[in-house]
Amino acid sequence: MRVALVADVHANLVAFEAVLAHARERGGFDEIWCLGDVVGYGPRPAECIDLLRQYPHRVVAGNHDLAACGELGVEDFNDAAARAALWTRATLDDERKRWLASLPHVERVGDFTLVHGTLRSPIWEYLLSERQAADQLARQQTPYSAVGHSHIPFVAITRSGGGASLRSVDDAEAVALGEARAIVNPGGVGQPRDGDPRASYALYDCDTRIAHFFRVPYDIAATQRQMEEAQLPRWLIDRLAYGR
Ligand code: ZN
Repeated sequence: MRVALVADVHANLVAFEAVLAHARERGGFDEIWCLGDVVGYGPRPAECIDLLRQYPHRVVAGNHDLAACGELGVEDFNDAAARAALWTRATLDDERKRWLASLPHVERVGDFTLVHGTLRSPIWEYLLSERQAADQLARQQTPYSAVGHSHIPFVAITRSGGGASLRSVDDAEAVALGEARAIVNPGGVGQPRDGDPRASYALYDCDTRIAHFFRVPYDIAATQRQMEEAQLPRWLIDRLAYGR
């Protein structure tokens, strides 16, 4: 089975469509596994939820998903994120909000555990360090886990002597997951934050256990125009061009 591994779509429909088109060109996929934050920040929350639901999928909740449906308050968000979350809440209908509220925080599928943040703190913790990776690897009950939230693509692997190594991955890099426990982050589809504005995702083959990471150009200006029409905060519009 082949899986499109996506995270942090953030209501960026143009980027999400570009990623799925790219995945189809690369041989297609049987399921989408989504690591949370389908909505928030971006201008097309309903359309991104609907596009995900058109495909067989597994999805866990992110902090922005829970804020959009009212399960979380926006006190812990920065000002721009809070404004966007309240706009999203006002935009979505009850059916889609109920769907967001129903999402699991942790999900096991095949060799993977899916979680937005970390197993220690599924909704809020950013997994950024080797120390955090070692904690996650010790907690996970499956050989591999996949996380989102930081919008930065990486692979972390258990070191034979203990602890974990963590490194970023490049466009078009294929990583063979082996016997050692591992964590992957496919990066952010809708709001990359590693300085590369292209959408980020991975294709994973459950048989070969190879994760193929990709960066996909998309029409950033089109998403920015949609955000201007929705009167979303300027900072959120501008940052898409820089990937920060
Ligand atoms: Zn996010």
